[in-house]
Amino acid sequence: MAIIVQKFGGTSVANPEKIKAVAERVMKLHRQGNKMVVVLSAMAGETNRFVDLAKQMQKIPDPREMDVLLSSGEQVTVSLFAMAVKAAGLDCVSLLGDQVKIKTDTMHTKARIKSIDTDRMCRYLDEGKIIVVAGFQGITEDNDITTLGRGGSDTTAVALAAALKADQCEIFTDVEGVYTTDPNVCPSARKIDRITYDEMLELASLGAKVLDIRSVGFAKRYKVPLHVRSTFTDTEGTWVVEEDKSMESMLVSGVTYNKNEARITISKVPDTPGTASRIFTPISDAGIIVDMIIQNTRASHLTDMTFTVPRTDYDKAMEIVEKIAGEIGAESVTGDQQIAKISIVGVGMRNHSGIATTMFHILARENINISMISTSEIKVSCVIDEKYTELAVRALHDAFNLEKENQPEEV
Ligand code: ASP
Ligand code: MG
Repeated sequence: MAIIVQKFGGTSVANPEKIKAVAERVMKLHRQGNKMVVVLSAMAGETNRFVDLAKQMQKIPDPREMDVLLSSGEQVTVSLFAMAVKAAGLDCVSLLGDQVKIKTDTMHTKARIKSIDTDRMCRYLDEGKIIVVAGFQGITEDNDITTLGRGGSDTTAVALAAALKADQCEIFTDVEGVYTTDPNVCPSARKIDRITYDEMLELASLGAKVLDIRSVGFAKRYKVPLHVRSTFTDTEGTWVVEEDKSMESMLVSGVTYNKNEARITISKVPDTPGTASRIFTPISDAGIIVDMIIQNTRASHLTDMTFTVPRTDYDKAMEIVEKIAGEIGAESVTGDQQIAKISIVGVGMRNHSGIATTMFHILARENINISMISTSEIKVSCVIDEKYTELAVRALHDAFNLEKENQPEEV
């Protein structure tokens, strides 16, 4: 008997009809002899509604009380689901985070799971019950309710699958899976059949819309195969799995873009030990996450430093950098908020040379200037002018033949 964990997002349980349809889907697999554990989100829009309510009470809502409020949406969907199953004559039990014993740390509104007690769930599964667990919530050592951060139900599902050693963990959502790029930008975007955990993590800006990215890190650590698929069709979605040989033949798996960053450049910084630390320590102390950093060497013992920060932190970062620039005697500070980071991702890059140069060539052919470049083992990113984002994405998707399942070696 297989243990199957299935998670359904807010749009899949948005109203009573949809909850009944989800229950039907789960009961079908149960009748085929599988042990079913279901994780649900709150009805679509509910968690946002709670956030609005909270803000009407307190400008910055108290995190502990916020979690008491936010966790209530999932309590509604799991109880309704259990009733739907019982109405159909099968046995079902709903469990909240504290009833499972999903223990977390005390970081309210963004807690991390520390342990999961599987005893009660295993007992119910042996008794033939369908289990439905409230996503996104846990409990501290002191029995306070916590939530795992927005979109956290995916993490609940993966964590339960890992703890129960489930055979499958399926994440049901309102799209068919993970695409080679954003289908809204590039109509020839194709649904990916299989992708590695690492690629999925790199494709975060694509994937985050489909799958909460923290759950992928969790799945990787515990080797839980994830199947991301649509609630509204029976077609296979995307499998996020461990890497195998066949996956290396794909040069590039996806093209992604990010318009949420801004660039800051400090020119003619004295090239002495400790400068980078003086610049970046106050930025990180302010809680600003720096992404790309590039430093040049000049003959004159002066250097230029360019880096990117989230666009929402741009003003704060500029203020800090301008102050330090004065202190260390740098010549000037400039910045640009209208940038985009375009990335190509694929495990095949490890064994193929020339992928990055192909990318540069394609951007050049479209007359798009590259202002920064960074690479990892399985990714090449270029910073370009924001207004060319869509053009760049389409050109790269086309040049790497991503619309086709099997890409030719030569591009
Ligand atoms: N209901 C929560 C949210 O909207 C958790 C989830 O949907 O995963 O963020
Ligand atoms: Mg969600």
